[in-house]
Amino acid sequence: MPHVLLLGGTTEASMLARLLADRGISATLSYAGRTTLPAAQPIPVRIGGFGGVDGLVDYLRTHRITHLVDATHPFAAQMSVHAIAAAQCSGIAHVALTRPAWQAEEGDRWTHVADIDAAVAALEGPARRVMLALGRMHVERFMVQPQHHYLLRFVDRPEAVPGLPNHELVIDRGPFTVEGDVRLMRDHGIDLVLCKNAGGTGAAAKLTAARQLGRQVLMIDRPSLPERATLYRAEDVLAWIDHAMARGV
Ligand code: NAP
Repeated sequence: MPHVLLLGGTTEASMLARLLADRGISATLSYAGRTTLPAAQPIPVRIGGFGGVDGLVDYLRTHRITHLVDATHPFAAQMSVHAIAAAQCSGIAHVALTRPAWQAEEGDRWTHVADIDAAVAALEGPARRVMLALGRMHVERFMVQPQHHYLLRFVDRPEAVPGLPNHELVIDRGPFTVEGDVRLMRDHGIDLVLCKNAGGTGAAAKLTAARQLGRQVLMIDRPSLPERATLYRAEDVLAWIDHAMARGV
């Protein structure tokens, strides 16, 4: 019988958790534990890091995991690299469930940067009003560009006030709408949106809003990862599990 470890922290992981529960497939959903938990999940949940590749290998063995599904965020590169290595080492089936990256469309004013360091460097220059749509993880990195006014949007209220000298904080879990994000950008006089190429529909509203308002976007491209099997729909993961079982994997 399959026993799936589902690495989560995304909407896709929650969707797959629901499908696995409906199909009666034994599975555990794993969270890093960075945010307060969203809605209750229909499968058992574990929280916290595994302790690197060795810890994950150990977890896979102890819990007799047969299938590892990496549905972490496209920017959770360390976890994804660990998952590839641990699955290889344990000889278990492994697949990534992710979303296609966003592509610029007619009317978009995007500049691409490779990573957070490059994004910080690109902000060198006169003061601007920047929507820093990165979640709370990298905010402090922007302290070296204190001349800008930053609009921050977090899922949860942080325990400590962000250190950026000149910022406003909005707490909102979404879902976000184009109308809402147009209003937000207008209300805050935003002239630049800085974000990661997360892909998916949930966070795309800000890009459409920026296009409609003719605002610039500084787009952080996805980290590159070693080759891995990748699927884009939760339903396809069920088919992959069936297929792997049929092959005796
Ligand atoms: P990361 O840099 O790739 O991972 C750092 C460490 O956190 C991993 O080595 C692992 O610790 C632990 N970890 C990450 N995801 C885990 C999971 N699902 N279950 C158990 N442990 C996990 O990850 P991150 O960028 O900090 O993201 C953390 C979580 O937030 C991920 O689950 C991701 O899906 C979610 N998330 C990330 C972003 C983003 O922009 N990065 C955005 C939205 C949601 P050990 O080495 O100890 O195992």
